[in-house]
Amino acid sequence: MAVLLSELKIPAPVVIDLLAGLNRPKKLIKPTSITIHDTGNVKPGADALNHAAYLKSAVPNTIGQRVSWHITVDDKRIVQHIPLNEEAFHAGDGENGPGNLTSIGIEICEHQGCQRTAAELNAVALVAALLNALGWPINTVVPHKHWTGKGCPHLLLPRWTEFLAQIAAKLVWDPAAEIQRLWKDGIINTHKSPEAVVNWGELATVLNRIRHS
Ligand SMILES: [Zn+2]
Repeated sequence: MAVLLSELKIPAPVVIDLLAGLNRPKKLIKPTSITIHDTGNVKPGADALNHAAYLKSAVPNTIGQRVSWHITVDDKRIVQHIPLNEEAFHAGDGENGPGNLTSIGIEICEHQGCQRTAAELNAVALVAALLNALGWPINTVVPHKHWTGKGCPHLLLPRWTEFLAQIAAKLVWDPAAEIQRLWKDGIINTHKSPEAVVNWGELATVLNRIRHS
């Protein structure tokens, strides 16, 4: 799977600014969902680059104080802090919690001076690009509240259904791209066209690979 946003086509400026240290333990994961957060930070200037700097400076004293997420989105750009296939500490459910271990964390900015609507549109474009690239359905996008009950993302929760609908409107199903993904992931070993016929033995092989992937 794509692990850096620079590998995707996203209609907003992308900055890759990866963390080092305890907030990024480089523990490999196989994410299966995307978790949406609001930063809750209204301070002027608390944009995506500012949060990137914060994550670098917020050096924890203990493992329990670790804080990180994969991507911050504001009204001007999208900043990635951690590769998509590594654990981050955003779900509030601990080092071995399903949220931290299986979900890509995205924070949306809400600082004074931020054009929130533009930031949300950037988030919609980002999440749609991720779903399209990963081949994931819309129900893999969850609010932070899904993991711990925390009222986050507080600005989006009252409009959650509409937010998902905005993303869903940008999803495309491309069988040829899916074949490319399956080939890249080692699930299939052929570039046959979407219309090509497979037999039961080939299908069983593919299902077995998916089961053990
Ligand atoms: Zn949150």
